[in-house]
Amino acid sequence: MPPNDFVSHLTCDTCGATYQPGETELTCPTCGPLQGTLTVHYRYPEVQRLLTREKLAGRKDDSHWRYLELLPVGERPASLHPRVGMTPLYPLPRLARRFPVRELFLKDDGLNPSASFKDRASSVGVARAIEQKRTVITAASTGNAASSVSLFAACAGMRCVIFVPESAPQAKIAQLLMFGAEVMAVRGNYDQAFELCLEVARRTGWYCRNTAVNPYLGEGKKTAALELCEQLAFSPPDAVVVSVGDGCIISGLWKGFCDFHHIGLIPRLPRMYGVQAEGSAALARAFERGARSADPVEAKTIADSISVGQPRDHIKALRAARESGGGFVTVSDGDILGAMRTLAREAGVFAEPAGAAAFAGLAPLKESGRLSPSDRVAVVVTGNGLKDVASAIRAVERKPVPIEPDIGAVLEALKVEGA
Ligand SMILES: *Cc1c(COP(=O)(O)O)cnc(C)c1O
Ligand SMILES: [Zn+2]
Repeated sequence: MPPNDFVSHLTCDTCGATYQPGETELTCPTCGPLQGTLTVHYRYPEVQRLLTREKLAGRKDDSHWRYLELLPVGERPASLHPRVGMTPLYPLPRLARRFPVRELFLKDDGLNPSASFKDRASSVGVARAIEQKRTVITAASTGNAASSVSLFAACAGMRCVIFVPESAPQAKIAQLLMFGAEVMAVRGNYDQAFELCLEVARRTGWYCRNTAVNPYLGEGKKTAALELCEQLAFSPPDAVVVSVGDGCIISGLWKGFCDFHHIGLIPRLPRMYGVQAEGSAALARAFERGARSADPVEAKTIADSISVGQPRDHIKALRAARESGGGFVTVSDGDILGAMRTLAREAGVFAEPAGAAAFAGLAPLKESGRLSPSDRVAVVVTGNGLKDVASAIRAVERKPVPIEPDIGAVLEALKVEGA
């Protein structure tokens, strides 16, 4: 382990067993990949001394590597894309008045290098693979995790083998091929692609960038929470709303807020709300039942990035919602398409369906009284709309007008009096 890595140990989310860094890279051997996800702990007193508000204010690094003391890597990897994280946070006063909430912020993670939130995790995964001198990295994904890891693997000169469902949107497949990944388009769903990838990693020893089974990936995801705190002058929002598939983003964000709270950088913690598609709502159902783990469902939604039958990070995600005093809400595909239009037209943000789902969740959260007019609310947009143009076309009412290259025809079509 590099000397300036501050990870102290890991604990199993189910049995509580403690592991030393290096003892297991993935899940608890006793509890297995679905129950035995691990949580990463740091030498917090040391981190607290090094990571102060003043030190952060003086840091020039405008990527998520600025939080290196709270990341499971020794140093900022020089070969990787320089611009991951530190995505903009926009205030949306007009939309805030409409709901109403006191303040509404949008964090646009579609502006990451591969155009989704997943870059936070992939960059950390590839950085760890570099430190361990691995030469091959593999991942299963609904699309974004794959295109993201293939970008960072390309930067690192690593071989990258990807398992995606055959039905993944074309743009995401194009990204994979462009970044030079070897792509296995699985004739099946995401859950089947996931199992295949796990088995290949087990047999080959390739580095596994798989959601939830690799505890270090969530450490990358938590940086969005750290940024939110810093961008809001260490006064965190009352509520954070994010879309949920496997549950890694919501639990990663919660870990980030808890880490900052632990070292005294923020005075209080936000409530975490997860938004799921009605057709892929395993976590929302489990939360309603008060369960600590989720049962699988048959997933079907337009929002491919949150179309997940068996949420892999269920234990952490349910814990994040419960511990924070938040919860889950579901939205229909129609709500998601509407949210895509509203985000584009009122905030200038073009989101993919899963990216807009979080915003779609605001209305039901407000109606059910879980957001109050005094709340400061942050919504995370997790992916860019160019990732899935076919869904965007479905979301709009108007079609382009076919027109002859003739000014008369144009004026007539636009119903403008001739000039
Ligand atoms: C992966 C992803 C999500 C969901 O994240 P989970 O960790 O699976 O809950 C949401 N939106 C986009 C765009 C994603 O790529
Ligand atoms: Zn265990």
